[in-house]
Amino acid sequence: MTEVSQNYVGGEWVSSETGETFDVQNPADPDETVASYQRSSAVDAAEAVAAAVDASDEWRRTPGPERGRVLRRAGTALADRKDEITEMLVAEEGKARPEAAGEVQRAIDIFHYFAGKAADLGGTVKGASSRDTTLYTREEPVGVAALITPWNYPIAIPAWKLAPALAAGNAVVLKPATLAPGVVLEIAAALDEAGLPAGACNVVTGPGSEVGSEFIRNDGTDAVSFTGSSRVGETVYEQATDAGKRVQTELGGKNPTLVTDSADPAEAAEIVATGAFGTTGQSCTACSRAVVHESVHDEFVEELVARAESIDVGPGLDHEMGPQVSAAELESTLEYVDIAQSEGATLASGGGRPDGDAVADGHFVEPTVFTDVDNDDTLACEEVFGPVIAVIEVDNFDEGLAVANDVEYGLSASVVTDDHTEAKRFVDEAEAGVVKVNEKTTGLELHVPFGGFKRSSSETWREQGDAGLEFYTIEKTVYDN
Ligand code: NAD
Repeated sequence: MTEVSQNYVGGEWVSSETGETFDVQNPADPDETVASYQRSSAVDAAEAVAAAVDASDEWRRTPGPERGRVLRRAGTALADRKDEITEMLVAEEGKARPEAAGEVQRAIDIFHYFAGKAADLGGTVKGASSRDTTLYTREEPVGVAALITPWNYPIAIPAWKLAPALAAGNAVVLKPATLAPGVVLEIAAALDEAGLPAGACNVVTGPGSEVGSEFIRNDGTDAVSFTGSSRVGETVYEQATDAGKRVQTELGGKNPTLVTDSADPAEAAEIVATGAFGTTGQSCTACSRAVVHESVHDEFVEELVARAESIDVGPGLDHEMGPQVSAAELESTLEYVDIAQSEGATLASGGGRPDGDAVADGHFVEPTVFTDVDNDDTLACEEVFGPVIAVIEVDNFDEGLAVANDVEYGLSASVVTDDHTEAKRFVDEAEAGVVKVNEKTTGLELHVPFGGFKRSSSETWREQGDAGLEFYTIEKTVYDN
């Protein structure tokens, strides 16, 4: 019997008013239903917002150090169940076990990190014109924060929104992605066990167009933090802005790695392969364009193809690269393969479904390398969100930099070079929120700001670290005479 999970609202586990559920299938074996979740409606979402509004005052008045203790206990509760949560993540989202374990650990670390930050929040004393006046700032929560999250980092992204929001004293309503909601309900259970007051965190599963939309529309929410596709996120941004809410959107990417003539082709291929094929290419920061100097191009491609072909594709529990998350995502990747070929790119490796019993039924795709890609080609412009890398040959560093920047997105960008001047120029001129030298485009420490330029992000706010807390905080200036 498939387990039917419930929503977490007002500190209770509750069913949707619709009486309907939806199933989540294992992407490595779609015949296996992993779990069922509430197919909630706008009415359920509104009830969750009402619960958050009711809880808001108590949580806001809970002293920072106590809020921190709750977050620390929640992190520890997640750590106690790390192995089970890791397996749930693999079963629902499909990524390889070490990647899933790393992601769960990141969520635990985020809760512990913001536990410390909660104790430290408060404000700053400033110099006043009169000695009789104590002049200071007070950091206050924004109110109720609506959090809407994607499937590709189904526990880390909710954690990096929830933990700072709660640390700063906000109540939250959260709508996880429908493809992998289970791990978010694990966070809710951990917060419940940790003693979070009822209603301070509410999780409602169901369609974005109903649950997510209601969170944005409802007068009870004050801020909206969204991570997902640019297509949905740009609408969310408009809706939330029109409703007068503070809004943060973290969206898609089309991230380049520039390989210069001073780069070692083997080292560059390793950096590009790990950035492109890790998490089956389903990272917002995945490398999807390798912009390569003609003098190292052929050797680089040879090395990259060798790496692509050596990757062991199969169910994430015991293989190096798992499936795509759904049949629709797999189909979309294969369509991009067709489009690239029809636009004249050369398929250098992969491009289809792998052979073998272990991969017969799941949404598996081969790591794929295209060469002879023009920067105007569809493959170089649109986010594929699968393990597909477009190699674009350039004649010199200036052209490479221009090509790297010539895209609608600006999330992450890296350069592989042995030349310090080139590295400095790249850092200076790359149009991306995260810039790396001799490193893959993916991966970021939890205490540094994360966000993009151009269509990758709403630019006003960043996530993670102190920058992440700012979104959930309003400063009051106080004169006390
Ligand atoms: P998506 O945009 O389809 O969905 C994201 C969330 O929005 C889901 O919970 C979905 O149910 C909800 N949603 C859908 N329609 C909605 C609506 N009308 N109103 C409110 N909510 C709605 O994205 P996805 O497919 O889940 O995730 C993949 C995308 O996320 C990729 O484009 C990837 O680049 C991006 N992403 C960005 C970052 C980042 O930090 N920049 C991180 C991870 C993923």
